[in-house]
Amino acid sequence: KQEGRNTYRLFRAEMQQQDHRRLELETALRNTAETGEGLAVHYQPLVDRDSGEVQGAEALLRWHHPQFGDVSPGDFIPLAEWSGLILPLGERLMQLVAGQLHDWLAEGLSPPRIAVNLSARQFWQTDLVPRVRALYADYGLPPGLIGFELTESILLDKQQQAVHTLEALREMECRLAIDDFGTGYSSLSYLQELPVTTVKIDRSFIRGLGESRGSAAIVAAVTGLAKELGLRVVAEGVETEAQLAALSRYHVDLIQGYLTGRPVAGEAFAAHYLV
Ligand code: C2E
Ligand code: CA
Ligand code: CA
Ligand code: CA
Repeated sequence: KQEGRNTYRLFRAEMQQQDHRRLELETALRNTAETGEGLAVHYQPLVDRDSGEVQGAEALLRWHHPQFGDVSPGDFIPLAEWSGLILPLGERLMQLVAGQLHDWLAEGLSPPRIAVNLSARQFWQTDLVPRVRALYADYGLPPGLIGFELTESILLDKQQQAVHTLEALREMECRLAIDDFGTGYSSLSYLQELPVTTVKIDRSFIRGLGESRGSAAIVAAVTGLAKELGLRVVAEGVETEAQLAALSRYHVDLIQGYLTGRPVAGEAFAAHYLV
């Protein structure tokens, strides 16, 4: 009994520590959202499987804090979503991406289309479409240069309204991808109802390709359907030549993963990939 009580106390102390750290992180994140200090964007190339050409990039938010160091997006993005800070942070990210594209164009470079992740709260902002329109106008960007990635759960939630917003973004020639495809609800039939251009197969299935028949079956089904519907397919998280080879059996357009390029800062991205 005594032991049980001690375990409980220990457990509670741990919980309090966790709460404390979460609170500290949230306060720090709130300051960062206000000032923008310590935020950066990394860009990861999407490479054409056949030609090896860089056809796009994904923008990934990075946060460095003087006390906490580099905080992983896996830690701060959920916190940002839960607290609502994803709205100001997402706005900053979009400004950073648009500014970067503007600078590259001004230098005479030809940047590829950049995809920005949108979480549910961002997608359902009533003024998302005018915000995006203003972004293009403010930075003088040609149509379609910035696109978006969304998860299935966002789009299934209120499908009619989602279609409406997606159509408005398509009118601006934005590419629209369904992210982490296959991990959510995946009644595949809804794909044809949504005006999206791209599906991104989640990296868990790519990792499983050589290992489980289940993963291969899902990759086969998703790529087959995407081809029927005329959608582009991105394979995410490709790390090895073996995985790349295993993908050759399927209709995959683009490769994104450590094998073809890790996420890097804008300067490095330009040095490696832009002409
Ligand atoms: P995601 O959208 O699925 O982004 C891809 C993640 O996979 C990135 O992690 C990327 O670095 C990682 N990755 C890419 N290639 C490989 C690979 O070959 N192997 C492995 N193991 N990983 C690979 P990251 O940057 O840590 O981002 C994690 C998640 O955080 C993202 O997952 C996304 O959901 C979220 N996130 C990142 N930036 C933003 C943002 O600006 N806004 C929103 N709303 N979410 C973001
Ligand atoms: Ca993504
Ligand atoms: Ca993903
Ligand atoms: Ca191709």
